[in-house]
Amino acid sequence: MRLMIWAVLIGICSCTAVDSDTNPESQALVISNNASTRSDPGLQRVELFAIFDNLYYIGIGWVSAYLIDTGNGLIMIDALYGDFVDTAIQDIRGLGFDPQDLEYVLVTHGHFDHVGGAGQLQQQFGAQVVMTEPDWQLAEASRGSSAQVLNRDVVVNDGDEIALGNTTVRFYVTPGHTPGVLSFELVVRDGESEHRAFMFGGVGLNFEGVERTESYLRSVQRIKELAQANPIEVNLANHPAMGRLFERRDLLAGRGLGEPHPFVDAAGYLSWLDELGQNGEVKLTEESAEVGR
Ligand SMILES: [Zn+2]
Repeated sequence: MRLMIWAVLIGICSCTAVDSDTNPESQALVISNNASTRSDPGLQRVELFAIFDNLYYIGIGWVSAYLIDTGNGLIMIDALYGDFVDTAIQDIRGLGFDPQDLEYVLVTHGHFDHVGGAGQLQQQFGAQVVMTEPDWQLAEASRGSSAQVLNRDVVVNDGDEIALGNTTVRFYVTPGHTPGVLSFELVVRDGESEHRAFMFGGVGLNFEGVERTESYLRSVQRIKELAQANPIEVNLANHPAMGRLFERRDLLAGRGLGEPHPFVDAAGYLSWLDELGQNGEVKLTEESAEVGR
């Protein structure tokens, strides 16, 4: 079953390969790779919501986008694609912000569902698009079709930081899903509490090759070591189903005064990384067998 799903996904280059045996949402994700459903506003529109005092969800049903309010300028995480860029811009206005204050768009990787709207955000608001060198190349290679990034703004390397207002974003290059997956961490605020949030920018296993799979596994292990050294409390998933995002949203809506924040789950983050590692190992075994290693 796993191989079959991967085979389906590999052919269409997007981000949502998951293990069907362990993830009950995988069927919905596979359906989301259908071109008509992934552009259907009725299926994809999600009402914006606040997650933390400085973090909002402005994404769609199968792909995330977030807005960070730094107190002196805005940062968007991932650029969506097609008509959903306009709805994200409406969401920014709906939150009471001015999209002209968009300073950066952090693009987790160069697939269309994350980078497709970057060119529009550059052109309309002068936002600077941030990606790794390999994924700038990936996005530029598909320019004119899905991604329409016009100018290279910021090429980030591992260990780089961007500071804006009260927020510092630290970057990690975690290849596998694409050659230059961009991951990063920042602090999110919940009243008086601060929490370490992490974006693993390329979770899906819909890619090919033993070396790429080994690279993915090294990235998962590296993030695990980061989390063991200093707990990662919040999973900023770039596909909602990969971080129980809407389930946590609903819990957050029903949160009582003084109750814990449902997005704060350091133990859950480690378990999730273990699951990703196990799925990656299965893929590695299968890929190795295919090439006789
Ligand atoms: Zn992808």
